[in-house]
Amino acid sequence: MHNSVPVRNVLADRGINYSRSCSVCKNQVESLDHLLRECLFAQFFWFRMRAPQLVMTRRTQNLEDWLYENCCSKRTQQNHIPWGAIFPFALWNLWKHS
Ligand SMILES: [Zn+2]
Repeated sequence: MHNSVPVRNVLADRGINYSRSCSVCKNQVESLDHLLRECLFAQFFWFRMRAPQLVMTRRTQNLEDWLYENCCSKRTQQNHIPWGAIFPFALWNLWKHS
């Protein structure tokens, strides 16, 4: 939220010699929003996670609200675990993949 997550766009702004291109798809500037929501890999990831519509349809809201809403979600999946408990771990795995 404060350009503190070291995605390539932030690193390039800090003068670190990285391409700004997404390390996964190579097609777009790698911003945090791109990495977590816009990247085709991220969209496929959320689809494979069987993420609730909350994740899949709210990509137009700002990133901070999207993160907050998903972290606080009490919706349960087939495993009866609240999505708000699964979501941070899913984010972490998505981040580690990039
Ligand atoms: Zn990408």
